Amino acid sequence: MRNQVKSKGTWWHRFAIRFFTVIFAVLVFWVLGFLVQDIQSLPGPNYGSIEKNYLNKDLLARRDALNKQITALSRQIDNETEKQRIVGDSSRNLQQTINQLLELQKLGIEKHMAFSDTEQANFTSSLNLFLDNQKKYQELSQSVSEMLEKKQTLVEEKDQAEQEIDKQRQPARDEYNALSRAHQLKLALLQLAILLPILLVAAVVIIRKRSSIYFPLYVAFGAATLVKVALVVHEYFPSRYFKYVLIGALLLVVARLLVYFIRTIAFPKTQWLVRQYREAYERFLCPVCEYPIRTGPRRFLFWTRRTVNKMVVPGDRADQEEIYTCPACGTGLFEECSSCHKIRHAMLPNCTHCGIEKEVV
Ligand SMILES: [Zn+2]
Ligand SMILES: [Zn+2]
Repeated sequence: MRNQVKSKGTWWHRFAIRFFTVIFAVLVFWVLGFLVQDIQSLPGPNYGSIEKNYLNKDLLARRDALNKQITALSRQIDNETEKQRIVGDSSRNLQQTINQLLELQKLGIEKHMAFSDTEQANFTSSLNLFLDNQKKYQELSQSVSEMLEKKQTLVEEKDQAEQEIDKQRQPARDEYNALSRAHQLKLALLQLAILLPILLVAAVVIIRKRSSIYFPLYVAFGAATLVKVALVVHEYFPSRYFKYVLIGALLLVVARLLVYFIRTIAFPKTQWLVRQYREAYERFLCPVCEYPIRTGPRRFLFWTRRTVNKMVVPGDRADQEEIYTCPACGTGLFEECSSCHKIRHAMLPNCTHCGIEKEVV
């Protein structure tokens, strides 16, 4: 069962497998993204409600009242200034009229013509109007400057209130920041609590099913999960720590790859297989499926890779060798030697009795 020739498939098949592996990875990444997003949308602390606990309500009301007063006063000042402008315009017009009348009078005197009564009356009324206007203008100036002064006082009061509010706001901000940080940490831990077990499962599957034909599927799954975990860690933990996590993970991966390649060169495939088989036989485990080889005195025992060395094997019974096939996977583990016809390891190169060598496949 080990000498099946692995079919590589056509170019098109290999391309399709790679293509769908990538698609699969992207889809897994998406699904994980949705999970993470749902966690991220959990509501955090609300600054508004925290601030309410710290700010004095009367102070806020005073600030608002001051704001209203200032706005009203500003509007009033604008109105008065507008009025002042209109009065100023009319004063300028009157002044021009008076100047013209004076000019006319001057001409009349030069030509010895008397100013008529109506002209005189016009002149007097213009002059009176002008003086009235001037008085009004002065009054408006006075009231505007008074209002400006009042506004300044109000603005100062408001600034003071704002400063006090700001002071009260500081502890609110501190509390909000602390709550925020705690919330972020909770989100990160929740996300990792979901992602890390998935990553662990992926890693275990990748390591266990190294030689499975579905290996690309597992790798795609693992890679997508790893990228998501890295992104989450990067988002929530300061890059100061993340740097070490990342470099640690990279070191592990690169070291693992190095070991793998060094081993492939140092032990060509058969030699590598023989090593694996040897280690399995040493632990009395099937080299293919790790089911215990329950033969001889170990017939009624059970053990695993870890417990094999802690077992007490009943040694008083005669150890009769026999042909043995793994009951779990059907691989022949002990067989008759073709040369000396005694029982030998089926998956190791040499017979323990006659030493004849056979090819391990
Ligand atoms: Zn087996
Ligand atoms: Zn032999």
